[in-house]
Amino acid sequence: MNLYIKSLKNGINIGKNLFIDTIRKWSNIPKIRCIRYTTTWECNSKCDSCFIWKINSKKDELMTLEELDRFTSSELLKDVRRIIISGGEPFLLEDLPERLQILHENCPKAYFGMTANGLTPDRILRLVKRIFELSPDICIRNLGLSLNGPPEIHNRSRGIENAFEKTMKTYELIKEYLPVRFSFTFLPYNIDQYKWIKSFAKEKRTDAYICWTVISNRFFDRNFLGDLTIKEFYQKLRPMLNKEVKRIREKYLFNSFIEERHLDCTAFRDFFHVDPYGNIYPCNFNLSEDRILGNVKETDFVEIWTRKKRTEIINDIKSGKCLYPNGVCGDSDINYSVSHTGMHCILLWYLSSNGKI
Ligand code: SF4
Repeated sequence: MNLYIKSLKNGINIGKNLFIDTIRKWSNIPKIRCIRYTTTWECNSKCDSCFIWKINSKKDELMTLEELDRFTSSELLKDVRRIIISGGEPFLLEDLPERLQILHENCPKAYFGMTANGLTPDRILRLVKRIFELSPDICIRNLGLSLNGPPEIHNRSRGIENAFEKTMKTYELIKEYLPVRFSFTFLPYNIDQYKWIKSFAKEKRTDAYICWTVISNRFFDRNFLGDLTIKEFYQKLRPMLNKEVKRIREKYLFNSFIEERHLDCTAFRDFFHVDPYGNIYPCNFNLSEDRILGNVKETDFVEIWTRKKRTEIINDIKSGKCLYPNGVCGDSDINYSVSHTGMHCILLWYLSSNGKI
């Protein structure tokens, strides 16, 4: 089917589900709607803003296909609407297509969002083709390819020679198969490049978006900002964001990060994160041991989900303590929460601030 018609059909379905989910959330009916699945912590990039590549990826402990199938066959996951596939670099997993096939079959109403660094063009093309061979009607709504600026800046940020060239080759190879957008991370030396990325994306007939996740000190208290504190860095972004960000919800979100506004996070209420080894966390940003609810390799998911500890963690999240200790928890998971629960807050904020971040 033509990519345009396929995208249109998917868009209508997603719009319908978003509407239903918003009503459902406002009425406070709990149901799991979103899963974030970190497929692997392994990464072949050497980014100066993210040190995931230094983590021991413990490949022999990954959830097997059988374990993934058993876990996602749970009745509790039948109504999942959205699955975020992240990493590390998901395309380093040779059986990624099989993993997506299992998720697609077990959660048939879900659309997928994915991220990739684009550093292995031929491999990514081969795996993308295989995904659609195994699951012809899977809805991958977005594949975010990391791009942090023109060649010199992008290569520097990735710590890889010719990273830009490789990512662009990937883009050209896979753009016919699924919607690909550029995912941009702010760094001290590329703040002015977001404008460039936007117009470059337009030339390439796609779009670019900000990936705030990596700006937070997610895994390590690293000093990629030099003498700047995270707060000072966020302040520096404000003029650029005010010029370039047009969508109201994004404006609200970025303003919230800068102002450290307490956001209504719905982690462990309607979404959760599962790591490569089957550990169930509320989200992908605070991965301390005490936030593990259980492990689906060892225990049935229903039993894990009904544990009293989940309510305790929800209460802790509601207090907002986990949001800003290292800058911000991360845009992707909190964005999911805000997208359904906060429309009235967003409109009020917009009217009172005149939409200024
Ligand atoms: S507020 Fe942020 S860190 Fe806390 S649970 Fe939600 S997404 Fe995770």
